[in-house]
Amino acid sequence: MSDKALYRDVNENPCHMCMPMGGILPIKGVEGGMVVIHGSQGCSTYMRRYISEHFSEPIDVGSSSLNEKGTVYGGEKNLKQALDNIRKVYNPKLIGVLTTCLAETIGEDINRMADEYLVERQISDLTIVPVSTPGYGGTQAEGYFLTVREIVARLAQPTPKHNKVNVIVPNISPADIREIKRLLDLMGVEYTLCPDFSDTLDRPYLEHYSKMAPGGTKLEDIKAMPGALATIELGATIGDEYSPGQFLLDKYGVPLYTVPIPIGIKNCDTFFRAIKEITGKALPDSVRTERGRLLDAMVDSHKYNFAGRSVIFGEAELVYAVSQLCIENGVYPAVVATGGAGGKLAELLHPMVKECPEPVKVLPESDFSEIREKSSSAGVNIAIGHSEGRYLTEHENIPLVRIGFPVHDRVGGQRILSVGYTGTTLLLDRITNTLLESKYRTYREDMYNLYYKEDSGGLSATKDEVNSDGLHCMS
Ligand code: SF4
Repeated sequence: MSDKALYRDVNENPCHMCMPMGGILPIKGVEGGMVVIHGSQGCSTYMRRYISEHFSEPIDVGSSSLNEKGTVYGGEKNLKQALDNIRKVYNPKLIGVLTTCLAETIGEDINRMADEYLVERQISDLTIVPVSTPGYGGTQAEGYFLTVREIVARLAQPTPKHNKVNVIVPNISPADIREIKRLLDLMGVEYTLCPDFSDTLDRPYLEHYSKMAPGGTKLEDIKAMPGALATIELGATIGDEYSPGQFLLDKYGVPLYTVPIPIGIKNCDTFFRAIKEITGKALPDSVRTERGRLLDAMVDSHKYNFAGRSVIFGEAELVYAVSQLCIENGVYPAVVATGGAGGKLAELLHPMVKECPEPVKVLPESDFSEIREKSSSAGVNIAIGHSEGRYLTEHENIPLVRIGFPVHDRVGGQRILSVGYTGTTLLLDRITNTLLESKYRTYREDMYNLYYKEDSGGLSATKDEVNSDGLHCMS
């Protein structure tokens, strides 16, 4: 068996994290939000570690610590004990209870347990949001959106009409969330952005440490979401069953605008067009200037980017937006992959990839053995995705532009800015510079092999005789 075939059979490098891990992030993006993972200690430890490495923050996540006894007789006692402990230590306003493979397999009814707990303890100032997130039920992306939907469904109340716009964001970086808020503020738009972990998962250094990070979407604002002018959901690929915006539309009639993450000129324009349609507010001159600078950057770098052949992987929503950016800039994707089913990704990509000069392989439910194999055979020379793709560099020498979740082998995952016209410009520069770095690393050798090697049919010269411009050295 070949090395690659063996690698594929082992399948030890999935392209996604597990479902409850994705559910932790939105709960951390609600003011006073705390999490209990209903399952074994190992699950919560694994999740804490990944999230902590990405955000460089302490990630407090409770566990019901299910053991053999709880597995056989049920974990209700453990869960209620965990809720008691969390209340005592953190005094949260909201607790998200996320199930694991084990809890779901033994059939734990967390909705009943949560309701009973509040009655038994006579608590009225705490919201518990149970979410069914078995690890085998989906990826972190599905866990993320399902949890946002459950938070909204649990809190939203009939509310008189007001002037705010609901903005639902996917799993983007705290820097990206801050950028979206900056743009909305510049436009004078009133909004409720949910979930907002821009401060809670990227805390400034303060003299006094508080167990609960300040920030997050206010519970009062989430309760009032049914009265909003409309919902803008950055979730073009997600299925209706995971969509908080779809819930607000179905239950409260809030108009829903589903748009891609504003990465790439087309996606940014779509985002701002939706805002204008809802609020009547046009792009301010300062943002128009940022758009002009992005166009200028695209012109400046196209002479390098045309040589890019990319593999794009990660959460479907991000993959979709980055594919658009790459197609706009000539870094045509050869492979587009996601670890989960990908929702509407394949359907949305279909018309886009038709513009590409070479065939594009779209790989839902993929892993890194398949991504590696397909990237290698398609002659990919740049990878764009999260840190797990570092194997493409190690094994295939394909350089990696890090974006998405998790970025755990570099610092600054929480500060990677990629949205809006300015964020797109920065991301485009990262892509172009990665291609340039690769080109200059192998430039002389490539020129020698192409023009000077004896069996190439070109002039005969040694590698050292080729100067840095790739010209034959006459001296
Ligand atoms: S996949 Fe299942 S067992 Fe593994 S960490 Fe996730 S919830 Fe726990």
